[in-house]
Amino acid sequence: MRLPSLPSLALPIAVGLGLACGESAGPPPPAPAEPSVSAKAEPSREPPRPEPNEAMPPPDPRLRAEALAHELIILDGHVDVPWRMEEAREAGKPPDDVTRATEGGDFDLLRARAGGLDAPFMSIYVAPRFEGKGAKAVADRLIDSVEAIVARAPDDFALARSPAELRANFAAGKISLPMGMENGAPIEGDLANVAYFHGRGIRYITLAHSKDNHISDSSYDDRHTHGGLSPFGEQVVAEMNRVGIMVDVSHLSDEAFDDVLRVSQAPVIASHSSCRHFTPGWERNMSDEMIRRLAAAGGVIQINFGSDFLSGELRAERKAWRAELDAHLKAQGVAEDTPEGEAAAAAWSADHPAPRATVETVADHIEHVISLVGVDHVGLGSDFDGVGDSLPQGLEDVSRYPNLLRVLLERGHGRDELEGIAGGNVLRVWQAVEDHAHAAQRATTKDPAAHR
Ligand SMILES: [Zn+2]
Repeated sequence: MRLPSLPSLALPIAVGLGLACGESAGPPPPAPAEPSVSAKAEPSREPPRPEPNEAMPPPDPRLRAEALAHELIILDGHVDVPWRMEEAREAGKPPDDVTRATEGGDFDLLRARAGGLDAPFMSIYVAPRFEGKGAKAVADRLIDSVEAIVARAPDDFALARSPAELRANFAAGKISLPMGMENGAPIEGDLANVAYFHGRGIRYITLAHSKDNHISDSSYDDRHTHGGLSPFGEQVVAEMNRVGIMVDVSHLSDEAFDDVLRVSQAPVIASHSSCRHFTPGWERNMSDEMIRRLAAAGGVIQINFGSDFLSGELRAERKAWRAELDAHLKAQGVAEDTPEGEAAAAAWSADHPAPRATVETVADHIEHVISLVGVDHVGLGSDFDGVGDSLPQGLEDVSRYPNLLRVLLERGHGRDELEGIAGGNVLRVWQAVEDHAHAAQRATTKDPAAHR
């Protein structure tokens, strides 16, 4: 069996100690610091660490972060690879094959290996324009495309329908591709479709996207069609609880968030949202009060890396930058969606780089959540392949997670904290949702016997 997640650019610490190819060599690794570590179905690949003493300088955070990125499960709540492929198809171009190095995009196998990424949730994104117009078929096609990635590279990728499967994939050195559906439009008003999509491997549903739909209101839509969830939306949440699909509150209006917390009997996630504290008044992010309530219900907020999500000032600067670019293209007499327009935009952008956040800004959001509710309720939801050129300096693609871990280490967060942030917290929610579903299903099957 291959060693898990060994990237071509190497683990400096492990290689330096000659441990890259054998876990049996040398003394056994130190006992895990907490029970959840030993519960993992894989041996620790961390080299034995000497006791700290005064003669020993503290380990270089860069090397330590690089090692931890490959030792811990990194789970990302939102990666838009399926949409990236679908968009190419719509444009009549061959989609990128992410099982090889790709020139464009934020994700491919090699970069995922380099960054230590183990479980990117593939976003089954169905645009609001498909509401009532074939949304289910679009979702099915995107799910097929994720299955096709696994079929093309079964030694590197695997589907993951449960936390246990995900951990087994990790132990076998495979990158899991769990799936979340962004937009409830494919439910198409039929509760049976919730179980249908569970059967296809969907493990969270973002109830709405940028427009109110038949399930829920959206934070981007001013209509407030239902004043939160629709009555059918409440049934959808209950059914998701019953079958074991996580409810994702990203994109929802504040009223819909309230309704979800009232109706859901299992903890929920925000798969790709950041802190409204840094973007005052922007409903797409979560307020401090919402984060407190999400955490009190056992949930997790997964921080979005897009610059527009990270800073209100940057949002304003980026808007101004965009207006300047548009004015430039207009003056040149070219439309951006033409080859000439693309070239003109690229040339102008090279001289006028778009304002962007940094990896430190993402760490600020993580630390803000920690300051509010502790370290057990925050995770990662990059939106890679979804937020275009707005990714922060130092977090440009999936090879860069070690950079974020480094900043967190430098700010004093230890291995156990990083384990939760990198993926453990979301795995806990996923497990709780699965346990709740099993208990609910057992209760239903037991009931008739109880009356006999
Ligand atoms: Zn989104």
